[in-house]
Amino acid sequence: MARHFDGSKLVIASHNKGKVREIGELLAPFGVETVSAGDLGLPEPVEDGTTFIANAEIKALAAAKASGLPALADDSGLEVAGLDGAPGIYSARWAGPEKDFTLAMQLVHDRLGDNPDKSANFTCALTLAWPDGHMESFEGKVFGTLTWPMRGDKGFGYDPVFIPEGHDITFAEMEPQAKHAMSHRANAFRQLIDACFKQA
Ligand code: IMP
Repeated sequence: MARHFDGSKLVIASHNKGKVREIGELLAPFGVETVSAGDLGLPEPVEDGTTFIANAEIKALAAAKASGLPALADDSGLEVAGLDGAPGIYSARWAGPEKDFTLAMQLVHDRLGDNPDKSANFTCALTLAWPDGHMESFEGKVFGTLTWPMRGDKGFGYDPVFIPEGHDITFAEMEPQAKHAMSHRANAFRQLIDACFKQA
């Protein structure tokens, strides 16, 4: 049995305003008030884990210990089968200091070259940590294939080159609600909410 969240205030262990708002909206129906690590002035820990879950745990635990409140962190990225899972946990870093995802997608395309295996997936890890060190972690995935050239202007990151299984348009060509219904993040959130937020 996972530990249940029974407080009223939760720290979102992120300094990304968009992420903090989106997570706050997802948890609002459960009567959870959220505050961000950025608003509390908490330091950003070094993300030196080797898996998505390890990095989500580093961020959630650091925020829970520093604030004395339960904290939620996420870590996500694109894994390309023909590149042995790269860019993976380095997905944001492949975009360089300018956060240029056109460059990151070009890099994926160039490295894959004429490899016929275009399969890829997005992964999202979510960790809820308590100040006593207890943690609950969940991982959601969405599988699909890569396409080239880029298509669509919705979404963010690597969305313009990713076609989810069973579809013929990229995440960046989909309405946001359609993407949110099937995404790796939605999958991880469903698991988190079922395990830690819903009343038994
Ligand atoms: P994080 O915010 O450090 O976890 O970095 C995640 C990175 O993975 C983002 O900067 C995106 O490049 C990529 N990523 C994660 N989720 C998605 C998605 O839903 N669509 C496109 N790119 C994503």
